[in-house]
Amino acid sequence: MNRNDALKQLKEETYDLCIIGAGASGAGCALDAALRGLKVALIDRSDFASETSGKSTKLIHGGVRYLEQAFKKLDFAQLRQVKHGLNERSILISIAPHLTQPLGLVTPVFHWWQGLYYWIGLKLYSWFAHWDASKNHPPMPGSKWLNKQKALQLIPGLSPRIHSAVLYYDGQMNDTRFALALIQSAVNSGNCTAANYLEVLSLEKNDQHQITAVSVKNLAADHSEPSEFNIRAKVFLNCTGPFADSIRKMANPDLTSRIRPSKGVHLTLPNAILGGNYALLIPKTSDGRMVFALPFEGETILGTTDEPYQTMSNEPVLQASEVRFLLDTLQPYLSKPVITGAVQAGFGGLRPLLAANTGAGARHTKSMLRDHEVETDSKSRLISLMGGKWTTYRIMAKDAVDVACRILHHPFGMMHIPSSNTQNYKLEGAQNYSPAILETLLQSGSLSESTCQHLTRTYGGKAFDVTSLIQENPELKQLVHPEYPFICAEIVYSVRQEMALSIRDFLARRIRLEILNWNASRQAASTVAMWMSKELNWTPDMMESNILAYQKLIDSFIDQANTASNSSHSPIL
Ligand SMILES: Cc1cc2nc3c(=O)[nH]c(=O)nc-3n(C[C@H](O)[C@H](O)[C@H](O)COP(=O)(O)OP(=O)(O)OC[C@H]3O[C@@H](n4cnc5c(N)ncnc54)[C@H](O)[C@@H]3O)c2cc1C
Repeated sequence: MNRNDALKQLKEETYDLCIIGAGASGAGCALDAALRGLKVALIDRSDFASETSGKSTKLIHGGVRYLEQAFKKLDFAQLRQVKHGLNERSILISIAPHLTQPLGLVTPVFHWWQGLYYWIGLKLYSWFAHWDASKNHPPMPGSKWLNKQKALQLIPGLSPRIHSAVLYYDGQMNDTRFALALIQSAVNSGNCTAANYLEVLSLEKNDQHQITAVSVKNLAADHSEPSEFNIRAKVFLNCTGPFADSIRKMANPDLTSRIRPSKGVHLTLPNAILGGNYALLIPKTSDGRMVFALPFEGETILGTTDEPYQTMSNEPVLQASEVRFLLDTLQPYLSKPVITGAVQAGFGGLRPLLAANTGAGARHTKSMLRDHEVETDSKSRLISLMGGKWTTYRIMAKDAVDVACRILHHPFGMMHIPSSNTQNYKLEGAQNYSPAILETLLQSGSLSESTCQHLTRTYGGKAFDVTSLIQENPELKQLVHPEYPFICAEIVYSVRQEMALSIRDFLARRIRLEILNWNASRQAASTVAMWMSKELNWTPDMMESNILAYQKLIDSFIDQANTASNSSHSPIL
């Protein structure tokens, strides 16, 4: 994952497949294609997984709500999607056990008949998961109807007004780290070149209007080098999620828009608000959706919302009205009042929802199916992978790369299309992973238990590559922030091995401090910048301006989450 080497290769080589966008879809396609033996280029205009894929609820799930919809509307397409999601859930947990885990979700109810309704629904959900789950992947525990006392034991912050609760299990992951593990695995296969901060500006075409190259701008170039160059490939795959229409229209201006972006935000609260390691599922909000409060990296993330979004050039950040909506939704389930002052951070993403191929888009975003589609534009030969969800990235990738292989093999009259091989392929960090790694790290005696746990969960079998940097420089075992387990060795590791180029790359995506606590992230910026400066040869002026720019960004997030908030509540932070 050396960016300079990657840029050199991208300028010189001709690839079988060039993938635009390195979120869940692009990263998944890169690994699928690389394992089939294709020569792959993977590029993103920002950092890996910095858009939707780094801002998800982090659930690996079939979708409890889709199951309810499937039965209410007798919709077999939704049922099939639930089935696929549940099957993928066990596969993802087995190929990246360090980045995923089963998560118990508690659904409180206020009347016995609600309990019966959810118990039947969630039994069906568990039954679906067990139905044909592969023997290689141990099933999750089944669902249970809990009495009030038991529910309060699992979530001590719950209101004693509840009647009872239904417990079921789904999967949880660290989304940006999962995407990075996919990209590292693709690169380590020897068949993929990946680089961040390369924006596709235009497409080069031949006389038949077929794309032959993408013209990209290196957004991280220093002034001594030309920032624009072309990447040549035989086939191009558009994996730009909510931004897919802009690349589709570069390929063929006659195409109609298909994506209906929908904004979803989360906010972060201290773990003590719920207590324990179980998640809370609020089954029905005032606008008819579900909201989750989930333990994540020692805090609780609460979300999400679902609103159409148009201003695609602006980052979809947490707004004060969304803070109010989420806290008002959570409050009836809690024993104590929760105030806006408890909010530590927040983040927003854009669902790449897909409109029917009619060009019409009158449906509400919350009722649009989160299914995917692979479109090939016959004129330009651009393939676009659209829609979908994180959980099904592997199926989406298989479908898209199948199409790419068919196009690639057709001119040569070759009948054999190599098949997808990702089902049992352990991702980066999973190969040498075992829970014993935690013991070994603890025995070294130099790091706290919480740091050892964090390193094991984040890097899996690669955790020792991070700690070995401490031998080089013992100062690297210092904490990035005194209240969190992240250590400075990770900053150096992220630059050398994970292509982190900015303070935000590290704080938001390599570790997750930015989405856990804005104040702490703001305070940690100088430490991160100091270590990054050494690795990336920043001058003192660059270091200072990078720190100021990052702190200004965080201040703007805090402002927007506070603006117009009800003055009777304390401000955030
Ligand atoms: C709030 C929310 C919660 C969600 N929760 C879940 C969940 O719990 N479980 C689940 O399974 N799914 C969930 N999803 C859905 C899931 O996150 C998305 O379906 C998935 O991440 C989309 O991935 P993607 O790669 O298609 O898009 P993205 O992650 O947005 O990636 C597209 C990439 O394309 C790049 N790009 C755009 N234009 C260009 C260009 N011109 N040149 C180069 N690169 C470009 C962008 O920088 C970006 O990195 C959630 C979505 C949202 C919004």
